[in-house]
Amino acid sequence: MLIVGAGGLGTPLAQYLAAAGVGTIGIIDNDEVEESNLQRQVIHGTRDIGRPKVASAKDSIKQINPLVKVETYNMRLTAENAENIISEYDVVADASDNYPTRYLVNDTCALLGKPDVFGAMYQFEGQVSVYYAEHGPCFRCMYPAPPPAGLVPSCAMGGVVGVLPGVIGTLQANEVIKLIVGGGKNLIGRVVAFDAWNLKWRELKIHKNDNCPICGKNRTITEIEDFDYEDFCGLTQQKEEESEVEGIEPKELKRRIDEGDKITIIDVREPHERAIAKFPEAKVIPIGQLERRQKELDDTVDTVFVCKEGKRSILAVNTLREAGYTGPLYNLKGGTNAWAREVDKDFPVY
Ligand SMILES: [Zn+2]
Repeated sequence: MLIVGAGGLGTPLAQYLAAAGVGTIGIIDNDEVEESNLQRQVIHGTRDIGRPKVASAKDSIKQINPLVKVETYNMRLTAENAENIISEYDVVADASDNYPTRYLVNDTCALLGKPDVFGAMYQFEGQVSVYYAEHGPCFRCMYPAPPPAGLVPSCAMGGVVGVLPGVIGTLQANEVIKLIVGGGKNLIGRVVAFDAWNLKWRELKIHKNDNCPICGKNRTITEIEDFDYEDFCGLTQQKEEESEVEGIEPKELKRRIDEGDKITIIDVREPHERAIAKFPEAKVIPIGQLERRQKELDDTVDTVFVCKEGKRSILAVNTLREAGYTGPLYNLKGGTNAWAREVDKDFPVY
């Protein structure tokens, strides 16, 4: 099995799978151990500071179980090397911390028919799933478009409670073991989310998206190497300034809905967010599909974009403008959180 990332999530994955006696463990990571990693990446110790993470992880695995064969890749997983590396393994665990890698792992696994045991976390929340395109939805079915670059800080930037990757990575190891030995009830088609601060678990059912570009009926991504993951995730170009986008206040939007005003409301939130609460009168178009589906909008009426905090909706407006759309576009100021504050107290804040 292959572990992508030798950090917080990779730590329990490597430790438990080594202890379980998984025959071959591959680890890919291009980072070196830093002191600030040690609070959560307990596979590394103070003596390892400055060493490549894969080398330090290999030593720890060998200490736990010298019979395990460890393959290390002190490099980034890229569109150029992903197929070669991933094709060597039966099961892949995504323990990375960034969106380009998540899409890359997902797409390569989908094309090669491998399961992608996914884990991710932010501050006090984490989630786990098994994205296995042959048997259920993939990561792209769940998240057709990445969040705008810069909106979701990494663990290094946003911080994470050190125990959380221990919990999430251990759950990933549990899924890997079930996939290897067969049996049990695995997480294909389900996402389990864990809130460490309030100690709450949630489970969401997720479904295959027929329009998924990698596992849907009309696959549009057929070559990993041809896809620019950095660009897709907005890391190579900064979007326009936010200030040029016109906003609409929640109360104003409510008034216009109540008066039956002709207006189009587009919800650009993720499926798991809409599962928490649907926005009234809204049509759903993910940001990644806006350009292609702009003809569904009536450019003679006002279109209002809605997201959680009023930031992705600005990106949505800019995306359409860049695509040449000329009709009037607005974002709901402050998103659904402001809506909950000012208009509908029962609307969930998450
Ligand atoms: Zn898919």
